[in-house]
Amino acid sequence: MMESVWITCPYCGEVFESEVDASAGSQRYIEDCYVCCRPIELELTADNAGRVVSLIVKRDDD
Ligand SMILES: [Zn+2]
Repeated sequence: MMESVWITCPYCGEVFESEVDASAGSQRYIEDCYVCCRPIELELTADNAGRVVSLIVKRDDD
């Protein structure tokens, strides 16, 4: 099941909607910002029901 989340790009500040598959459980992945094309590191925490608990956005170069 895909869930819509809002992501704020840590590089350019653009806010955009993305879809995550929380049924796969907690995961870390990279998504490129569609405005500045820099890689945003996302840390998704999901519960046992496959719902998004939190989504942490990080710069890849931190
Ligand atoms: Zn950006």
